Order: sequence, then structure tokens, then C-alpha cells
Amino acid sequence: MGMTEDELAAAVRRWLAESWDPDITVREWWGRLAHSGYGFPHWPTEWFGKSMSSLETAAVRKEMALARVLGPPIGVGTSMAAPVLFAHGSEDQRSRWLPALASGEERWCQFFSEPDAGSDLAGVRTQAVSDGNGWLVSGQKVWNSGTLMADRGILLARTDPDLPKHRGLSFFVIDIDQPGIEVRPIRQMNGRTEFNETFFNQARVELDGLVGSAGDGWRAALTTLSNERHDFAGGWEYPLVIVAPGDKGGYLERQVGEVMEDARRDELDEANTPPVHTAERLVELAREWGRNRDPVVRQRLAHVYAMAGALRWTAERAEAAEAAGRQPGAESSIGYVGGVRLLRLIRDLAVEMAGPAGLLTGPDAPSEGEISMTVLTVPCHGIQGGSEQIQMNILGERVLGLPKEPQVDRDVPFRESVSRTREG
Ligand SMILES: Cc1cc2nc3c(=O)[nH]c(=O)nc-3n(C[C@H](O)[C@H](O)[C@H](O)COP(=O)(O)OP(=O)(O)OC[C@H]3O[C@@H](n4cnc5c(N)ncnc54)[C@H](O)[C@@H]3O)c2cc1C
Repeated sequence: MGMTEDELAAAVRRWLAESWDPDITVREWWGRLAHSGYGFPHWPTEWFGKSMSSLETAAVRKEMALARVLGPPIGVGTSMAAPVLFAHGSEDQRSRWLPALASGEERWCQFFSEPDAGSDLAGVRTQAVSDGNGWLVSGQKVWNSGTLMADRGILLARTDPDLPKHRGLSFFVIDIDQPGIEVRPIRQMNGRTEFNETFFNQARVELDGLVGSAGDGWRAALTTLSNERHDFAGGWEYPLVIVAPGDKGGYLERQVGEVMEDARRDELDEANTPPVHTAERLVELAREWGRNRDPVVRQRLAHVYAMAGALRWTAERAEAAEAAGRQPGAESSIGYVGGVRLLRLIRDLAVEMAGPAGLLTGPDAPSEGEISMTVLTVPCHGIQGGSEQIQMNILGERVLGLPKEPQVDRDVPFRESVSRTREG
């Protein structure tokens, strides 16, 4: 870009001053963001971006958070599917899907995990069979976040069970509103129904719904996973207010200023983000409850600050390496594991400060039940986006140079490895 950090920040502030208007609809605001390239600055200039590095993108998002404007339509479509479309999709697929993703007109979800394939994702059994005009998909996926509100999903399915498990997979984009797909919500322990199980019974994927070539799905899945890990990294300093894209989310026609005012409540309805997830909020609570002079509380607050700072700098180190054209290292796994641990520190301190009252739920509870909601929401971090143990395995192998886990079924046709597992 050839701009210094200060020049970039000034340019974003100028654009925001000219373009932010609380009286327009969310649809119009996201349209302006998409058009300007500031919604997804790391995307290529010809595709709603500014070809910026992750470091520059973080600087743009920081300015948006400071200006208290609604963030871009972030979700599976923009964070996980778009990178796959850039790396493995055709020009035609990019022009078909990216405009609706960039401007928040559509919401997408992720159909990867299955009852027997989570950490061992390459073991997916959902089959896609070609009928000459496209594919017919049958099987079951599970833990699919936001599917009830989504328009399309990215799907990892098996197209050739005679090949070893990593090689017989393909990556598809599938329309959700069709008779062959049934979505059943799952009630979580925090009371929300954020994710679902999805049943496919001869569901159709059009011919042009295959991304990359048949059998090349694992490569595309890896692109998704590294972006997903990155998304779950902690260290939030300037949390951006975001709401769900797509028509079914119900935000598009609302006034953007009004959505910002309701943002805290909406965030609770929409995401797995625990209500208390920053050091800043903990400090507010400590003041509210008169605990801010307690030396032990102060020491633990400092610990949270230090950890959040270290994580942020780790993320910046990865971004700087990327900007300098170096291969990314293990920073996304470090960010994931660190983010999970940070959340647990925050949760534990919030609960201890609240005391028994922290167990209460509902609007009459201390700070409207956000402590109990935090306690019941934090455990999903460490599972979603590839479990903590799997990230530790990656760190063990890539950073510490420990031997790789033995994989006995890597070169066996998938059909045979499945029957062997079933026979025990
Ligand atoms: C809130 C939430 C949202 C999610 N959203 C989605 C979504 O939108 N789309 C989607 O496709 N999936 C989604 N998932 C699923 C998620 O990706 C999986 O839960 C995750 O990958 C773990 O798989 P699993 O649940 O099958 O656990 P398993 O793989 O059965 O693991 C069980 C336990 O064994 C451990 N383990 C397994 N293998 C190893 C190993 N080799 N070494 C050490 N330990 C191991 C795991 O760490 C874990 O503790 C979501 C999950 C959650 C919690």
C-alpha cells in the first residue's frame, strides 16, 4: 500500500466520517463498506478489498471499533469460504458468490463435522454421488452453527470411497433451502440454540457447486481450517461490533444506528462470545462491585492484561511475517490455545468477584446474568474450530519437533478402513 500506519488510520477515519450514517439501513452500510474495500481490506482489490496485509486489515478494523460503527458482515462465508474461493475457486464462482458475501446479503454455514468425524475430519462419510448434472448428497453433519439462519453451506463430502480417506473428498457449496435438507436445532447448556444437526437425503449440489476438482477437497478444507483457527485467536483489544448477515438474520432492513445501540444484547443472541471476554469489562465489574482495591484481584487483572497483550503481539508477529512474504508459523495454534486459556482466566476471575450471586440468571441477577452466561459459554471454546488438544498436537509436531501421530489408515482405501474400524 505504501502508506504509514498513521496515514492509513487517517484515511480510514476520513472515509468513516464521510460514509457512516446511523440513519441508513444495515444493508446500505454494508453495501458502502463492500464498495469501498474497507469491509474486507485483505481481499484482492478486484474483489471488494484493498489487497492489504492482515496487519493493515487489523489497523482498519481498530479504527472502525474506535469510531463505534457496525463492523463488516463477518461469518463463515467471509472468513472461511471466501479464502477458499480465492485459492481454489473459479472466476465464475467468485463472481457468483463474492458480491452477496461482501455486502452481507447472504449468510453461509459450515458442514464439516459428523458424529464420527470431528478431530479426525478426513473420516467424513457423507457421500456426494455425481448424476451427470451435479451431485446428490446423503449423510449427516453435526454442530453446524447458524444453519437455520443460513442461505448456503460449505460442505466436505466423500466422492470416492475407494481412495484413501484424505484423497476421496470434495469441497462443495450447497443451497440450504431445498427438500433434501433437514436442519434440527440443538439446545446448548447456556440455553441458546446456536448450532444444529443437519440431515442430507439426496440433497442436490449443482454442477458448478464443486470448488476445485473432485478429490481435491482436503486441500480446500485445510485452507478453511487455518482461517477458522485464526478467527478464534484471543487477545481482543478493540472488539468490533458485528451482527449476522443474510436476510434470515433480520438485520438488513434495520437502521444501523439503532442496531449499534442494541449491539450488546444482539451479540448475546447471536454468537458464542461470552458476555464477559475482555480485561476492560472485568475492570468495570471490579469497580461496580467494589473489588478494584483488592490486591489479589488487581494482580489477577494484571495477569489477564498481560496475557491479552502477549496474544495480540503474537497475532501481530504472524501478520508481520505474512506482510514480509514469509510462511505463517504455528501462531494460529498458539493464538487459539492462548485465547481459550485467556477466556478461562477471565471467567474464573469474574465468578470469584461475583461470589454466589454469579450463579444467578435472568435480568434480576448481577449485571443481568452475564456472569452465569459466561460460565456456561466458555467451555465451547477449546472445542469449536478444532479442539485444544488437536492444536496442542500441531504445536508438538511443528514447533517442538515431536514425532507425528501414527496414522494407520492413511494409505488404505476409505471403504476398507471404515469396515475395519466397525469390526473393531
Ligand atoms: C460451539 C461449537 C460450534 C461448532 N460449529 C461447527 C460448525 O459450524 N460446523 C462444523 O462442521 N463443526 C462445528 N463444530 C464442531 C467442532 O469442529 C468439533 O466439535 C471439533 O472439531 C471436535 O470434534 P468432536 O466434537 O467430534 O470431538 P472428537 O474428535 O470426538 O474428540 C473428543 C475428545 O478427544 C480429543 N481428541 C480427539 N482426537 C485426538 C488426538 N488425535 N489427540 C489428542 N486428543 C484427541 C479431543 O480433543 C476431544 O477432547 C462446532 C463445535 C462447537 C463446540
